[in-house]
Amino acid sequence: MTAEQKNTPTVRVRTRFAPSPTGFIHLGNIRSALYPWAFARATGGDFILRIEDTDVERSTQAAVDVILESMHWLGMDPDEGPFYQMQRMERYKEVLAQLQAAGHVYPCYTSVAELDALRERQMLAKEKPRYDGTWRPEDGKTLPPVPAGVQPVLRFKNPQGGVVAWDDKVKGRIEIRNDELDDLVIARPDGTPTYNFCVVVDDIDMQITHVIRGDDHVNNTPRQINIFNALGQEPPVYAHLPTVLNELGEKMSKRNGAKPVTQYRDEGYLPDAMVNYLARLGWSHGDDEIFSREQFLQWFNLDHLGRSAAQFDEAKLRWVNAQHLKAMADEALAALVAPLLEKRGIGAAELADGRLPRICALFKDRCDTTVALADWALVFYGDAVAPAQEDREKHVTAAIVPALDALADALQDCAWDKASIAGALKEVLAAQGLKMPQLAMPVRVLAAGTPHTPSVDAVLELLGREKVTARLRNR
Ligand code: GLU
Repeated sequence: MTAEQKNTPTVRVRTRFAPSPTGFIHLGNIRSALYPWAFARATGGDFILRIEDTDVERSTQAAVDVILESMHWLGMDPDEGPFYQMQRMERYKEVLAQLQAAGHVYPCYTSVAELDALRERQMLAKEKPRYDGTWRPEDGKTLPPVPAGVQPVLRFKNPQGGVVAWDDKVKGRIEIRNDELDDLVIARPDGTPTYNFCVVVDDIDMQITHVIRGDDHVNNTPRQINIFNALGQEPPVYAHLPTVLNELGEKMSKRNGAKPVTQYRDEGYLPDAMVNYLARLGWSHGDDEIFSREQFLQWFNLDHLGRSAAQFDEAKLRWVNAQHLKAMADEALAALVAPLLEKRGIGAAELADGRLPRICALFKDRCDTTVALADWALVFYGDAVAPAQEDREKHVTAAIVPALDALADALQDCAWDKASIAGALKEVLAAQGLKMPQLAMPVRVLAAGTPHTPSVDAVLELLGREKVTARLRNR
């Protein structure tokens, strides 16, 4: 058996990402999509997107849009969905009725005020607050008289005694005593089903084999497993991912400054670099830090998920992005930079003159985002550059003006390639008795707007004769 066959489960893997669209999705959230997506791709399975929009007050279409846009940008499109929980209410009610008919559900008339009082008593007695089972039907038990005019909630009859256990792919074996779980409300007085119940119905209907989600859901899992069992279904495999912390060590959240995923796109990050960086936030493949999407999907399995919280580090993300940017083919990079330049007013015809891939080749080593690369490229397409006054004063001195004029003249007529440009520079240096930096620095400042550029002949060649001669004379 090959290693690959060993890793391939016999049942087709089906994973899901189930975000609640209650805020703009950030990197911590999207990492919970990355692993189920990667696991489905790595095993030839299916990845399903389910929007958990039952919190009607807080869910917004704008948040859904950012989820879809972010996933699409990162190349994590689902095979099925998006499915919306709000559109599945009838289905939940149908399964609720089945569960009720099978005796797993009972009406509870305890009022909110009574529950509050109960909780207070339990807290005072230093007990864990929980429903006391007043309305739970048992053989030989007489239930209280049903109060008039009260719409009951429906509670799930949690098994008594024994344990709920699962082998979590991240946390190892977890066992919870049923006695620690009270009877969960699974439908509100108006009949709408509650969260834990909907999740189970969805995971059954969508035939999810592996639930890979944030560990803030660990407490829900035993309850969900009991509902699976009551419905006569096998629960999926669970993997609960540790939290992603922000740079201050707090749980990453919008409230404490996390940016929406799409902002990284706008700041010039590459999807493959984001996938690489996010993958390492909670998973490892030996010491590999930089890898392609293909390598990641080849290597990914659930056995190397980290057990401790990962901390976001923007400087590292930039570094990872820079490595991917450097490794990218110039043509591909140019295709990403061109729209950024168009947005900044450069016409499509000019952008198609063949220079852009070469500009990318010349500058990609010194840029960590495509936006930084576009800033450089703009020097080659815009009409003028605006050097800082300080650079002008330092480098474009009166003493160098004759050499600049001589160079502009020489460049007016020479052949336009790197070697001829270098030749023209050398001739002027020799004629004026100057050293290269004395001329190269003011040339850079005037032609490119900054003294910090790669080799001056390469820069001038890409700028083109017209721009170079005009800028050298524009002092
Ligand atoms: N909707 C939940 C959340 O956004 C995820 C639930 C789940 O994955 O089971 O945290």
